[in-house]
Amino acid sequence: MDKDLSEFPIQYIKGVGPQRARLLNRLGIRSAKDALFYLPYRYEDRSTIKKISALNYGRLETAAGKIISAEVIRVPGRNLRIFELVLNDGSGLLKGKWFNQPFMKKNFRVGQEVLFSGVIKRNPYWGIGFEIDNPEFEIIHDGDDAHIHTGRIVPVYRVTNGLSVRQMRSIMFTVVQTCISGVHDCLPSEIRQKYRLRELQESTVNVHFPGENSDIGLLNGGLSDFHRRLSFDELFMLELGLAVIKRGSVSERGIPFKPEGKLLARLTGSLPFTLTKAQERVFNDIIEDMKKPQPMNRLIQGDVGCGKTVVALMAMTVAAECGYQSALMAPTEILAEQHYITIRPALEHLELKVCLLTGSRKEKPLDSIASGNADIVIGTHALIQEGVVFKNLGIAIIDEQHRFGVMQRALLRKKARNPDVLVMTATPIPRTLAMTVYGDLDYSVIDELPPDRRPVTTRSFNASQKEQIYKVIRDEVRNGRQVYIVYPLIEESEKTDLRSAILGKEAFEKVFPEFRIGLLHGRMKTQEREEVMASFKEGALDILVSTTVIEVGVDVPNATLMIIIHAERFGLSQLHQLRGRIGRGTHQSHCILVVYQPYTDEARRRIAIMVKTHDGFRIAEEDLDIRGPGEFFGTRQSGMPDLRIANIVRDGLLLNDARREAFALIGKDPGLEGHPLLRTSLETFWKGKIELFKTG
Ligand code: ADP
Ligand code: MG
Repeated sequence: MDKDLSEFPIQYIKGVGPQRARLLNRLGIRSAKDALFYLPYRYEDRSTIKKISALNYGRLETAAGKIISAEVIRVPGRNLRIFELVLNDGSGLLKGKWFNQPFMKKNFRVGQEVLFSGVIKRNPYWGIGFEIDNPEFEIIHDGDDAHIHTGRIVPVYRVTNGLSVRQMRSIMFTVVQTCISGVHDCLPSEIRQKYRLRELQESTVNVHFPGENSDIGLLNGGLSDFHRRLSFDELFMLELGLAVIKRGSVSERGIPFKPEGKLLARLTGSLPFTLTKAQERVFNDIIEDMKKPQPMNRLIQGDVGCGKTVVALMAMTVAAECGYQSALMAPTEILAEQHYITIRPALEHLELKVCLLTGSRKEKPLDSIASGNADIVIGTHALIQEGVVFKNLGIAIIDEQHRFGVMQRALLRKKARNPDVLVMTATPIPRTLAMTVYGDLDYSVIDELPPDRRPVTTRSFNASQKEQIYKVIRDEVRNGRQVYIVYPLIEESEKTDLRSAILGKEAFEKVFPEFRIGLLHGRMKTQEREEVMASFKEGALDILVSTTVIEVGVDVPNATLMIIIHAERFGLSQLHQLRGRIGRGTHQSHCILVVYQPYTDEARRRIAIMVKTHDGFRIAEEDLDIRGPGEFFGTRQSGMPDLRIANIVRDGLLLNDARREAFALIGKDPGLEGHPLLRTSLETFWKGKIELFKTG
């Protein structure tokens, strides 16, 4: 029956029809079930019905009375018609006014009992008496006192052009009335009792149309017991799916690597530094996973610059020693190229063959990937394209996981029979949240930066302080260091008036004729781009003017100054990633945020945070706070189901409970054979994201 609701088109709900259905579709509501779980984003308390004589001017109030007149008034000399409805409750008169909506009149008849809610105004002519413009109203019919729009705590829904909140509320009322009996609770009752969760039907009704004694504060915070129940269900579904995915990969047989360790020793012996404790610990987790017969599924999290690449390199070396190929997938071509440039010399020195596969590169080393001649393949999404066939892929590594999703991981894994999978991310998120967003993965953190790193100092400058900015650049280059200048867009766009990197480069060439300045952006040809990057790396360029293509992964330790133009337009995590490009060597690095007036308060806040702290976790927390979890985690692109009710930050404790129970249940009943209803709902919840249960 639950299934029926999810297949019952919203169009056939009474009062909807094809036209409104289209509007509802825009809100993501297709079925009756979608509607039931489309919650109000806030509530308004219109439950206190006052005597008209006791109303207060300027307040949002509710009163009831009998209609004593209902007239459309023409305002002389103006093209205006006002429909006026006057109520009397024995204590006084209250007038409701609707502008240019004469058709409203047909809704009312003198003598009817009506409720009004709205902000109380003084009548401009009499100076006394009470009025409401466009009041919310409810006609009280005999024996039918179902209040929907007033006389109660009312839900306020997000709507779209062409659909009013009032219409939406009426539709939702009908949906709840007619469909609630079709809602079946599939949460195991032990769990419901253990966490003292309310009944599902009761909760569904109450989040839309709260009962009399509800606490408006809790409702608006999404924290009422009824919200809690629905949030729990959603989080439980999320975690169940993750548990199934994880379980599936655990029960599969992978490759039990048996490294001798010689090749690895040669690699570590050739590194110009010693590993940090954190790198060693994390590599240890990896090697233990690799030795196990189950496939590895591990997330490595570490702030920018903590040295994730070398850990990946070590894992690939282990695979190579055991006779397996490795793949390293990066989110951008520039990053893939960068990895190629740094990794190739390190590994070719060990007689390993490294090759690069990206979309725009003409030579595609497909043959050598297929023959097994290529030991290490570095690339972009191109790696997961059809036609790329590995001889014996042993480990797949995904760099900067936050740009990829569950799907891409699954595709990369399909390139072989259960290779080990390692994903690396610089998005610093609190551990419990990481467990959710990457919940099917095991988890290790590199929580230490290499020694001698000095935190980057960050300052903000107004765009008008040109001379000061030039001086900083000049000093840095004269000291033998290199500089990034980052622009938000490639070309001047009329609409936004952004200074483009191309024009920027020309301007800087005029200011610094004595310096060597290069340009890097995403629309350049691969070869050009590789050349520019290589010469910047070699020190043949002093200044690199660039778009945000350098955001991830680029690693030039001698670059110690970053100028971010139009810093007010960047998001926090992007600023943090960009700044992570400097402070990678032993020299003190500086970041200058150049801001253009006027900018928003939010931008001001972002800039202030960047100036104040370098700590990725602090920045992530602030970012989460500013953007909210949906945006922050980019769940849509990551291939995770959207959370529409729960908020993983607000509902952190609930999330832990849901996770514990979900994993325990899948531990006991991996295929949910004993919970068929739950299994069906789970499949609907994760539909199209990933195949949860293998059929057959
Ligand atoms: P990220 O974690 O951001 O991907 P990288 O792997 O690019 O960081 O490493 C950043 C820089 O730190 C590189 O230049 C790398 O060679 C260097 N590095 C990595 N590990 C260490 C270490 N243990 N000691 C000193 N430098 C290191
Ligand atoms: Mg990196």
